[in-house]
Amino acid sequence: MQAAILSVRGLKRSFQQGGVTINVLRGLDLDVRAGEIVALLGPSGSGKSTLLQAVGLLEGGFEGSIRIEGEEAASLDNDGRTRLRRDALGFVYQFHHLLPDFSALENVVLPQLIKGATDAEARDRAASLLTTLGLAERLTHRPSKLSGGEQQRVAVARALANRPLLVLADEPTGNLDEKTADIVFAEFLQLVRGEGSAALVATHNERIAAKMDRILHLHEGHLE
Ligand code: ADP
Ligand code: MG
Repeated sequence: MQAAILSVRGLKRSFQQGGVTINVLRGLDLDVRAGEIVALLGPSGSGKSTLLQAVGLLEGGFEGSIRIEGEEAASLDNDGRTRLRRDALGFVYQFHHLLPDFSALENVVLPQLIKGATDAEARDRAASLLTTLGLAERLTHRPSKLSGGEQQRVAVARALANRPLLVLADEPTGNLDEKTADIVFAEFLQLVRGEGSAALVATHNERIAAKMDRILHLHEGHLE
């Protein structure tokens, strides 16, 4: 049995809204092992994005323990969290969030340069990932010149560029039509498996969830 690379214990998060407290996460536990692809299934408003933001170290305001590769996020300062996020995590969102003034290739090169890769290494890796995703003829296109499915493929390549231990994906195909969503998601799975990364994928789509190694249901602030 592989050790957990993500281990969450007693995670709580609530929001104050108009004098009312909404308890979104109510003491949630979660383990993800190396290379494991886990679906986080729940209806809209159940707290999937809130959980991914906490695990992605993007937001404070939660109680409980989040350990990534054994490192306790709460005991890290801002720089430590930034380093852990950069070195261990990759992100895919529902909307691609690509940099509009950069080409597909450059969008995948940049995070590698920030991590310290040479320009040549970063370009090779970016071209190889984008080629695997069928975008060999689209390397110099700006995001606005790509279809929705192509934009999400670039976002997937960017998330995997630095060989993350864990990919966090929040409704990664939620903005695509059903047929394109199935194709892009199948490619995403194949690439993540090939790279040996683990993934935690939020979705409200049971068909997509069924393709993963394990399904966790987010219900009333707990996982089942
Ligand atoms: P999901 O991603 O499963 O659709 P979210 O995590 O986005 O759910 O939201 C869970 C609940 O928390 C919702 O009821 C939402 O309104 C509330 N919520 C999320 N973020 C905030 C916020 N910044 N302020 C107030 N309420 C929030
Ligand atoms: Mg959400």
